Amino acid sequence: MILGIECTAHTFGAAVVNKGKILSNIRDMYKTESGGIIPTESAQHHKSLAPEIYQKALTEAKISEDKIEAIALSNAPGLAPCLLTGLNFAKEKVKQLKVPIVPVNHCIAHLEIGRHEGAKDPVLLYASGANTQIIAYAAGKYRVFGETLDLGVGNFIDKVAREFGFGFPGGPEIEKHAKNGKYIELPYSIKGMDVSFSGMQTKISQLHKKGISKEDLSYSLQETAFAMLVEAAERALAHTGKTELVLGGGVACNSRLQEMCQIMCKERLQKTKYLCPERSLLVDNAAMIAFTGEIMFNSGIKFKPEDVDIKPRERTDQVKVTWR
Ligand code: AMP
Ligand code: MG
Repeated sequence: MILGIECTAHTFGAAVVNKGKILSNIRDMYKTESGGIIPTESAQHHKSLAPEIYQKALTEAKISEDKIEAIALSNAPGLAPCLLTGLNFAKEKVKQLKVPIVPVNHCIAHLEIGRHEGAKDPVLLYASGANTQIIAYAAGKYRVFGETLDLGVGNFIDKVAREFGFGFPGGPEIEKHAKNGKYIELPYSIKGMDVSFSGMQTKISQLHKKGISKEDLSYSLQETAFAMLVEAAERALAHTGKTELVLGGGVACNSRLQEMCQIMCKERLQKTKYLCPERSLLVDNAAMIAFTGEIMFNSGIKFKPEDVDIKPRERTDQVKVTWR
């Protein structure tokens, strides 16, 4: 019985997993009226809600605290104040319960939760607010095959949305407006398996000021940005010879991105499985932390609280993978 805690950015979550089964998955997201995340405010949000969310996760899983065998914590990467709040809460709990702590890399958890959908050795297209990476396992580590060279695809979409006068998060609004748009050519920027979005952002801003409709721009943004992501993911599949694609991150909630990934998998000559976790496992969540933590714990990974620290800038390929 593993209790997982997610705290890396805007979401605080707690979840219970037992033998790969998700027994509960509770979360709450820090939101702003306007503008982006203020790290200290998000940390305050986590701090004030942590006890309540923790309790809800236990209640929904129908277990008592003493059944917890370890606490898995997302200690990397992310916003330092948020990570610290999560770490302090987890340390307090493991000391009280006398159980070990399992530090989990958030990006790797997005990939590992693919196993819950049946993946064995997938390529992950991780498309979230701050992160945009193509990750897969190779030679003892989870490697980043491609990534954004400037801003994350979600942050890019949110910036465009802000210019259009939509609130945060902007993704769902852009998706709605895209339904009635038509295609306009936008800068398509991919180098190998790396992508960039700032050129497209500038172009959209110029066209918007010239009076091109939000509908057309939203549609064209989706077609262009997502085609870049799908191209990079396909190249990673071809390069690694892997035959499973897993989606992760909030932007992966977009139906058009899902559809394009599905088509790509279907059209590949090498039969490729398309695996898209349900929404509650795509966005930042504690179930993926508990799920990954359980796999790590079962392989013998357990730490004393004093030996665990936050790693705000840990890269996916810095993690020593000993549990596969
Ligand atoms: P995450 O960082 O993984 O929690 O994801 C948050 C990001 O996902 C934000 O930038 C949202 O705008 C974006 N997002 C959420 N829903 C959608 C959607 N339907 N289409 C595109 N982006 C979305
Ligand atoms: Mg995430």
